[in-house]
Amino acid sequence: MKILVTGGAGYIGSICVEQLLNADHEVIVFDNLTEGHRKAVDPRAELITGDLQQRCDIEDALEKTRPEAVMHFAANALVGESMENPSKYFRNNVYGGLNLLDAMVATGCRKFVFSSTCATFGPPDRLPIDETLPQRPINPYGESKLMFERVLRWYDEIHSLRFVALRYFNAAGATERFGEDHRIETHLIPNVLKVALGQKDHVEIYGTDYETPDGTCIRDYIHILDLAQAHMLALGTTESGFFNLGTGGGTSVREVIAACERVTGRSIKVIEKARRPGDPARLIAGSAKIKSELGWSPRFEAIEPIVESAWQWHVRNPLGYGD
Ligand code: UDP
Repeated sequence: MKILVTGGAGYIGSICVEQLLNADHEVIVFDNLTEGHRKAVDPRAELITGDLQQRCDIEDALEKTRPEAVMHFAANALVGESMENPSKYFRNNVYGGLNLLDAMVATGCRKFVFSSTCATFGPPDRLPIDETLPQRPINPYGESKLMFERVLRWYDEIHSLRFVALRYFNAAGATERFGEDHRIETHLIPNVLKVALGQKDHVEIYGTDYETPDGTCIRDYIHILDLAQAHMLALGTTESGFFNLGTGGGTSVREVIAACERVTGRSIKVIEKARRPGDPARLIAGSAKIKSELGWSPRFEAIEPIVESAWQWHVRNPLGYGD
């Protein structure tokens, strides 16, 4: 298929692009390169530099390339930042996304795969978090993604725009060529690995008084290749739907740090800090629906091999993409 990928120069987008190309799809990357990196764009893909805030940028790109499907990764995705600057999240994630959908409708492209998030749920009443739970986000990031999910439902009904929304839990890991390099790194695993590389003195733990066995937050870390696999399967379905996407395992912040120490063979200095606003205590995916309806099954379930792949990439690319 011919697929346009927004945010294809970012962490998750770049690896999905690589996997799409490996599966012989034709890929066009649309990215404004504010968060993404030119070097993260697989050279086999065409790169169009443009901004979703400008409707004409994306409409021109769709008009020119006429893809059969769009995968939409371009977004802001930091809980903490969204609590300080909600406007950025509603503008980029809702308004930017609307420009994309309207340009798709105008140019006749009706297949869409959306990067949604478990942050649309907020603190769950029970675990694991399956698709039947109520969505009550507790930060503007989660709210912006939920708003866009609701938009999708109506574009499906009114414009026959078929979508698959994948609600990611915590994406982690790397492939041989592409990995995680945010200009301001807030994520746990890359920050711990920076300590192991000697680029940071210590890692901070945000909150040790949560109601979890070791007092730190529990997340469901999913390998980026398993996540990419879900996107491939999403391309193959004709039905619209929402799917939660994680391994179903829970790993605490302290367990992640311990796994990083084992994988790197280096000790990690830790400083315990207060909770980060907007963080729920436990997020674990119920992925029965995507397993049964799309046939997805994760290859990586333990945290060590996920961390190992990230570590290998960071050792090979200590300065990330270097821009
Ligand atoms: N976290 C931490 N120290 C850090 C970064 C993150 O303790 O330097 C915690 C964070 O509070 C959360 C978990 O690690 O409980 C995962 O955070 P991350 O930012 O990686 O992903 P999120 O769950 O926010 O998408």
